[in-house]
Amino acid sequence: MIPEIELKSLEEQRAFQERKLPDLLAYLSEKSVYYRELFAEHNIDIKSINSLEALQSIPVTNKEDLQIRNQDFVCVTPREIIDYITTSGTLGDPVTFPLTDKDLERLAYNEYISFACAQGSTDDIYQLMTTMDKRFMAGLAYFMGIRKLGAGVVRVGGGIPELQWDTLKRINPTAFVTVPSFLLKLIEYAEANGIDYKATQINKAICIGESLRNEDFTLSTLGEKIKEKWDIKLYSTYASTEMSTAFTECEAGLGGHHHPELVIVEFLDEQNQPVKEDEAGEVVITTLGVEGMPLLRFKTGDICYHYKDACSCGRKTIRLGPIIGRKKQMIKYKGTTLYPPALYDILNDINGIQNYLVEVFTNELGTDEIVVKVGSKDNSPRFEKEIKDHFRAKLRVAPKIKFEDVGLIDKLKNPKLSRKPVLFHDLRTLA
Ligand SMILES: [Zn+2]
Repeated sequence: MIPEIELKSLEEQRAFQERKLPDLLAYLSEKSVYYRELFAEHNIDIKSINSLEALQSIPVTNKEDLQIRNQDFVCVTPREIIDYITTSGTLGDPVTFPLTDKDLERLAYNEYISFACAQGSTDDIYQLMTTMDKRFMAGLAYFMGIRKLGAGVVRVGGGIPELQWDTLKRINPTAFVTVPSFLLKLIEYAEANGIDYKATQINKAICIGESLRNEDFTLSTLGEKIKEKWDIKLYSTYASTEMSTAFTECEAGLGGHHHPELVIVEFLDEQNQPVKEDEAGEVVITTLGVEGMPLLRFKTGDICYHYKDACSCGRKTIRLGPIIGRKKQMIKYKGTTLYPPALYDILNDINGIQNYLVEVFTNELGTDEIVVKVGSKDNSPRFEKEIKDHFRAKLRVAPKIKFEDVGLIDKLKNPKLSRKPVLFHDLRTLA
């Protein structure tokens, strides 16, 4: 199932979005305290915003804005709200996203076309290995999307390899929805317990939250490690609560497809100017069809490349390359610019490292300093040198390595309220 608009040219997609724009602006101007004030403050006549170029004259919205003025973004009354989602805000306090009935329907549609994009069909049975509660959006969205697709779903939730394997035996699912690193744990468990995992019906995994690919679309170390053991098809998907939309890979595996009926997407540089196709830019989105908390030019903080050529799957929509990193997590180190995922990729590839986390702080010179805390049975200077050599080979620079207790690192990287491990600890002082 491919929505008709996704088969149309980029010009037609743009025209389609420009037809939707006036409704969105009128809605925000009427219902959103925040955007009404923003339009007034900047003397924006919304009737003059009738193209995607004109949209660029509206100031961007940041995560901090959502946090400080959460309630002013809400466009509906409590009676219209069905579901409440929260995200962890960058300033500490969470941001609440209210979803109306129509928002839930939009979310279901979004995941339906995303799962279809990742070659899902009514014949599939998805083993859902993400949490459906704890105020998260993702698990609920997957469930609704799979239902709309007409496929089967078994809600196992995260973790507990034993329960996952028991489910595989009983239900015989065909697909996983999971954080990819968990697949390695699952394989490890199977190997330790004599389970023949290759004999299952599983043929694909929709992988969330972690990078599966390098910038050139080859598999990352994590992706390769999974494939080496278990040759199933891996699909990356990139999504966030704020955009209530997913960019999911098709069978070509060359970036997540944009769904033009759901969001307007821009890619901006540091000065909020559009970047060219061969430049990395920050993903900035404007939601279409959202009732509860629609967003205009929202800066996601995620940096990636984008691609405009038509895809072999038939879709002509823009594709987003792997997320290189989060803007806030950019590290300037010894003359190079680094993002944590590049460090993880190297660490994932070194045998003997049981776990790790990356700390960045400001040194006495006022520049970034990186310490990688490594949990390993081997704490020798020889192993430390080996780790550093891996870094030098790939990044030309090596961070400080500090061996720590495996249990302690495990504790530090798994904060109680977090859905996924936190591998990056930013201790930098603000300049
Ligand atoms: Zn495609």
